Amino acid sequence: MKIIGLLGGMSWQSTIEYYRLINDAVKARLGGFHSAKIVLYSVDFSPLEAMMRADNWTDAAQLLGQAALRVQAGGADCLLLCTNTFHIVAQEIQECLSIPMIHIADATAEKIKTSAMHKVGLLGTNSTMEGDFYKGRVVHQHNLEVYIPSPSDRDIVHQVIFDELVKGKINPDSRREYQRIIETLADQGAEAVILGCTEISLLIKPADSPLPTFDTTELHALAAVDFALADIQRTYG
Ligand code: GLU
Repeated sequence: MKIIGLLGGMSWQSTIEYYRLINDAVKARLGGFHSAKIVLYSVDFSPLEAMMRADNWTDAAQLLGQAALRVQAGGADCLLLCTNTFHIVAQEIQECLSIPMIHIADATAEKIKTSAMHKVGLLGTNSTMEGDFYKGRVVHQHNLEVYIPSPSDRDIVHQVIFDELVKGKINPDSRREYQRIIETLADQGAEAVILGCTEISLLIKPADSPLPTFDTTELHALAAVDFALADIQRTYG
């Protein structure tokens, strides 16, 4: 089994989910007492949040590159950056490393392509919904059609993430707002919705959503498990 490297803390509310999902999947695949081999480095989110607000991606890339090197030095065979938004500097981080990064948008898009669906809504931070690093990648590298909410609804989605979800607050009013926004995406033609922020699945479970969901946290975690178990030929019991 290969060692999965997690660069987490963005926010820690979703890093917990990565840890649980990866261990659950390894247990389901290998059985018995098996669990995942994980190296986790969890950052202090405060300076990164400030850099993101200031559009200071140069310092964010440097901080995360240094943190990623710690994960690699800990023995990890791959790296997961446990956030969608900071994939804006994924290339800079990858350039610091000799181990591969598993890109969260690729893990998500690959799963969507195994479904019959082609038109997807995207919810996340403003950077994720608007930036070419994410939406552009899904559209141009994976040939999917992507719909995003209106500017005012994008602000609502973004604010709920930072005012509530990264602080561990689950607010039923915000859930209703997300449901309304997902319905709007369905009216535009979306057949499913990408939960493109690693905390959204804390608020919106599949049963809450008017459209089928593709949860980036889960799909990213499962892609890492596929990587870690790729060389294991048989199922242990
Ligand atoms: N975890 C979130 C994401 O997936 C947002 C918080 C952050 O900026 O990392 O984009």
